[in-house]
Amino acid sequence: MTTVNTAAVQEDSVVRPIHNPQATVNPCTLCAPLGAALATTGIQGAISLLHGAQGCATYIRRYLISHFREPVDVASSSFGESQTVFGGEDNLSRALDNIEQQYHPDIVTVATTCVAETVGEDVPMLLKRYNSRRNKALPVVYAATPSYKDGHVEGFHSMVHGIVQSLATNTGAPRRAVNVLPPLISPADLRHLREIVQGFGVKATLVPDYSDTLDGVILDEYRAMPEGGTPLDDISSMPQSLTTIDLTMTGKAPRASDVLARRGAQIHLLGLPVGIRATDAFVEHLTQMTGVARPQWLAQERGRLLDGYADGHKYVFGKRVGLYGDPEWVASLATFLFEIGARPVVCATGARNRALTKALEQLPPGSVDEVLDDTDFVRFEVACRRTNPELLIGNSKGYGIARNLGIPLLRLGFPIHDRIGAGRIQVLGYRGSTWLFDSIVNLLLERKQNASDVGYSYL
Ligand code: SF4
Repeated sequence: MTTVNTAAVQEDSVVRPIHNPQATVNPCTLCAPLGAALATTGIQGAISLLHGAQGCATYIRRYLISHFREPVDVASSSFGESQTVFGGEDNLSRALDNIEQQYHPDIVTVATTCVAETVGEDVPMLLKRYNSRRNKALPVVYAATPSYKDGHVEGFHSMVHGIVQSLATNTGAPRRAVNVLPPLISPADLRHLREIVQGFGVKATLVPDYSDTLDGVILDEYRAMPEGGTPLDDISSMPQSLTTIDLTMTGKAPRASDVLARRGAQIHLLGLPVGIRATDAFVEHLTQMTGVARPQWLAQERGRLLDGYADGHKYVFGKRVGLYGDPEWVASLATFLFEIGARPVVCATGARNRALTKALEQLPPGSVDEVLDDTDFVRFEVACRRTNPELLIGNSKGYGIARNLGIPLLRLGFPIHDRIGAGRIQVLGYRGSTWLFDSIVNLLLERKQNASDVGYSYL
């Protein structure tokens, strides 16, 4: 990932960025195979292999471990100079052999790093040749993930697409299950989505589901393959489910849900269930598809969220907020902020994705001052200085900007490297939205309290 620190000047210990269109300075996105490796952790018995240089796997493991605070194994075919010149077929074959011997996986996912893409490795052909030399084929799913083209969001969805394309092939009897295709969300949010779906008396098939693999219980012994993940049989039966809820409005083609649609599944595209309206839409669709009424505990959680809005709306009304991160998060949080009366004055993503702009056009004119896509943190800080947010919401990479601006940061999304508990942050559903609303209100109150000469204790 290119990081060129040429566009910032120090002045009175405050970094004042200068817009430099020639360079990306502190990118607002991460590398594509990272997303593919993360998606792999949500499939039962799967292990991730990156075809390319070893440093890429090391960096990706470090990022995932530092965010989730769980061990994550990512294998590499370990390119050196000769593989870069002559190709990496032998290394890929050796890596697959080693993985099979050491991990005994049910499936291996292969994603490409920049060097393999740059030298033009024909990975599907190499995998075909590898399996043709064996008595029994090793199940492998492949996704092309060139980081100079896309970031971690696209890498994540490319791998989910590859998994669904390869494995969701069963055309048997209908099953009383609901498929959910989430974007990159926390393990706690994955668990809560499953809880909501199961509340309607049906099975939930989430792809991927790393709610246990990346937020497991403490163990006496290290396990190379953590328990959890979506079972391969469940993925196989996805076309027979009652419905498939694709929670990525800002996704780019090819989509996993398009594959399922071609195989006869019914698809429903929704935004992330953050806030009353978005969660209502999720819940109403489940009611419609299952024929089961909303469970009482969900009705109570909805009531509590509304009660929270009534208690706290005067503290958030008209407040100016800066958002950055994955496009789906930014779009969903902007809609949530509008619902609670706050203003998402600047919305930024590093993804090269015009869909964020389109999604934000659904809000009333004037709700958002600036939308930035394919952006970096320097441009985002410049936009913040123009739009004067009172709060930032995003991953921990924006901490420096919040500090420079003297405003609080609510850490959400990926990565969060300077706090613990990222895997347990829950903002989806009525329950998660209540936590989110309280957190926003309390950060704004704390800022007001800290700036007060009086130091009052009733706010
Ligand atoms: S895949 Fe590309 S962007 Fe990612 S770590 Fe490797 S070289 Fe860097």
